[in-house]
Amino acid sequence: SRITEPLRTTKETHPNLPPGLILGPDGKPCKVCNSWQDWAKLKVKKKGETVESHGTAAIMGGGKVASRSSGKPSRKDCPADTEALGRSTWTFLHTTAAYYPVSAPTSTQTQMRNLLSSLSLLYPCVPCAEDFQEKVKENPPDVSGREGLSRWLCERHNEVNEKLGKESFDCAWKSLNERWKDGPED
Ligand code: FAD
Repeated sequence: SRITEPLRTTKETHPNLPPGLILGPDGKPCKVCNSWQDWAKLKVKKKGETVESHGTAAIMGGGKVASRSSGKPSRKDCPADTEALGRSTWTFLHTTAAYYPVSAPTSTQTQMRNLLSSLSLLYPCVPCAEDFQEKVKENPPDVSGREGLSRWLCERHNEVNEKLGKESFDCAWKSLNERWKDGPED
């Protein structure tokens, strides 16, 4: 459970933005803390008039507008939202664990501990990072070897899945190995 809830936009504080967007440390809605779908009802300024976007456009950095359909950016050069960043980060972490030494030497264990600690401090979605720091404190990483690290990451990922109301992943070694290293048998 989080100690503090992230600050969010409200109709009063940000009348031109959809309510409920998570704010970053600078007090502005933060792209990597929200999904593109969260921006879908954004009001977009167009040639002096204000129009409802109905999910067809989103303001990017510097007031640029990216057209999109069903809340997904149609351009490939849009900055990462919380989902793209999360998927890429989990892919990196689970894949790194899948190729981690079966039994890791002490120096490698230290490097992995440092990586996970740095990630929890530097992850740009600040509310995600704060929750992850708390979870890492409650459950120190098992960096002893491939299987332990893979399972530890699976459990932390499942904690986020649970928070977001997503299905839990089976953390059995066979399932993890199949998903992140060897692929399905057929
Ligand atoms: P993802 O959850 O990104 O999963 C990618 C793939 O990994 C899945 O398709 C599945 O095949 C596999 N997978 C799923 N669960 C597991 C598991 N337990 N073990 C192994 N493999 C698995 N988003 C928020 O909105 N709020 C947060 O607080 C938040 N915290 C995050 C903290 C961290 C450290 C990270 C890396 C991401 C966080 N995210 C958070 C992003 C969130 O976890 C998802 O990445 C994002 O919502 C996209 O989800 P997805 O359904 O595409 O699949």
